[in-house]
Amino acid sequence: MDYIIHYDIAAVVIAIATMIHFFYKRNVVSIHTKLFAIMVILALLTSVLDVASVYYLNQPDQLSMTGHYLLNVIYLAAFNAIPVIYFFYLLLVAKNQRDFTGFDYGRMICPYVLNLVLIVTTPWTHLIFWFDEAGTYYHGIGFGILLVIAFLYMGMAVVDTLRFRRRFTRAQKVSVLFYTLVCTGVVLVQYFFSRFIITQFAVSLALLSLYLSLENQADYLDSQLNICNKEAFIVRGKELIRRKKAFRIIGLPFTGLKFMNETIGIENKEEVLKQISHFLQGLNGKSNAFHYSGTRFLVVLEDDEEIQKELTGKIQEFFNKPIQAGCMSVTLSVPIITFRCPEEISGIEDVLDVIEYSLFDVSGDKNEVIETSVEILEKKRWESQVLSVMKDAIRRNEFEVYYQPIYSVEKGKYTTAEALVRMPRTKLGFVGPDVFIPMAEKNGMILEIGEIVFRKICEFITREKLWEKGIEYVHVNLSVVQCMQDTLHEQLLSIMDEWNLPYKYVNLEVTETAAVVSSDTLKSNMNKLMGKGIEFALDDYGTGFSNTSSLIKYPFHTIKLDKSMVWAAMEDKKAMCALEHTISMVKAMDMEIVAEGVETQEQAELLQRMGCDFFQGFYYSRPVPEKDYLNLLAET
Ligand code: C2E
Ligand code: MG
Ligand code: MG
Repeated sequence: MDYIIHYDIAAVVIAIATMIHFFYKRNVVSIHTKLFAIMVILALLTSVLDVASVYYLNQPDQLSMTGHYLLNVIYLAAFNAIPVIYFFYLLLVAKNQRDFTGFDYGRMICPYVLNLVLIVTTPWTHLIFWFDEAGTYYHGIGFGILLVIAFLYMGMAVVDTLRFRRRFTRAQKVSVLFYTLVCTGVVLVQYFFSRFIITQFAVSLALLSLYLSLENQADYLDSQLNICNKEAFIVRGKELIRRKKAFRIIGLPFTGLKFMNETIGIENKEEVLKQISHFLQGLNGKSNAFHYSGTRFLVVLEDDEEIQKELTGKIQEFFNKPIQAGCMSVTLSVPIITFRCPEEISGIEDVLDVIEYSLFDVSGDKNEVIETSVEILEKKRWESQVLSVMKDAIRRNEFEVYYQPIYSVEKGKYTTAEALVRMPRTKLGFVGPDVFIPMAEKNGMILEIGEIVFRKICEFITREKLWEKGIEYVHVNLSVVQCMQDTLHEQLLSIMDEWNLPYKYVNLEVTETAAVVSSDTLKSNMNKLMGKGIEFALDDYGTGFSNTSSLIKYPFHTIKLDKSMVWAAMEDKKAMCALEHTISMVKAMDMEIVAEGVETQEQAELLQRMGCDFFQGFYYSRPVPEKDYLNLLAET
């Protein structure tokens, strides 16, 4: 028979073109790309073998009988491996390899093993094919088995693609159907019209289509910066996790670059980013550097502390020198965030979460190395639970206010109290305001909480007519964020007006941080509120800056000595000296002093001798709910 091999030659050309494009453009290495590479190589190999075998079929006497058999055995063994790998490949798109069952492996391997046995024994059994004396090729009676098995793989691939269709994009599904239909059709044509050798051509064509839809490496490339993108990072990360390999990540969030559009221009900024990309690609290989998003880059490296040190050192060195962009010279600094992804990490989502938490919420930018770890996930997850409890509590108005009595030395009884907010108890247990208030400050919820709390306090004072119970005013804590609001004074006054509460019954506590951060706004709010008769106290004095300028600059009525200052004085002579002098200085400035954290009689006596006016602490009472507070007032 005169076989036509032009299609085979075309198949070789297509396979070579696909292969070159694939290997040239390959940015990420994963099990998928490896399997795809094997498929393309097999397609090329079988095309070449096919050309050779057809050549010798047309000139049978140029090859020995053993040669004919060997050529065809290798060809068939290689050719029939393609559907197996194809099936494996699709199954990996559908699910994680660690979710593969014994059945999955069985149906993947067993049919091919049967194929191999039949093919390899054919020179003796003549089951699949055979040659007559003249070297003419014939299908054996068992050749159909190969077809049945090939169809079996195709069938399983289609069924699984449909079963897990959500994991495949539309283009992928179309391509799988295309591949399967083309291969099936062509194999049938080939079987019945064996003069036309078109199988290889079809396989190459189908692989090309698969490449364009499933393995398009351009999807993994940031085309502007010519560096791997976030998609590529995800593929890389998944691959490492699949192989249960620990690895490390260096993250570089160039937050300062955001503002560079205005200062150095968009083009120069682009140039800077390109240079950064180029540098990072040279650090640990092109396929380990990623442009994660905006101004954030990642480098993936093996789990080796020494290598990490070496790379972070090189990064520091690079960014210590200016980068030339156009005619500008830019010096950048960036926090270098490192973390280790242990082998037992549960999935790529965890890695992405660590990146989101650590690269999107950074402070510090001086080319310093900041170690973080996947453990922050637990903390962040706990924090997000606390945030959601807070959100619910705001919606349902469930924050409670506790009161801690404050003892007046002069009057010998409780004359004031501090109002302290409490979050509703949930499965998270007790979460104190020193924990949740800073969180609420970060995301702005504090404004709503502050309003709820203030309203409750005003309602309580009015409803219970606390002034008739000997309470002169109640201390209310204000957050830094509240102090930064221009309209704070209006808001507070209007809430008090709602309850017809005389302004003098409230004393507002602010911290030194508020005084520093929102200096002008705070001063103007203070002036307006003091004009109405509301006094101010400086809270937590003795922690942080303890700057005397705050005492001078702002018209505080009271200073609250922080418990740490009180406690330190009990332990240490110098601290005692500082406490004594602070008290006498504040007294000389004609302000009143509340000592916080008084836990023992001894502390109370000492502080009284030093000249404190008020005491607040567990020695007198813990902060208690409204009812208990009223009982306490009734008893004394
Ligand atoms: P703070 O304003 O300095 O409140 C005093 C804190 O010291 C309270 O903690 C109180 O329970 C605790 N304390 C008082 N005496 C003693 C003592 O003798 N021993 C010990 N160990 N602790 C004592 P709490 O209620 O956990 O509040 C912590 C911080 O949360 C407050 O510190 C304040 O900065 C903030 N905070 C509380 N309620 C509010 C609020 O309604 N608004 C704002 N913005 N912040 C609040
Ligand atoms: Mg306070
Ligand atoms: Mg305090």
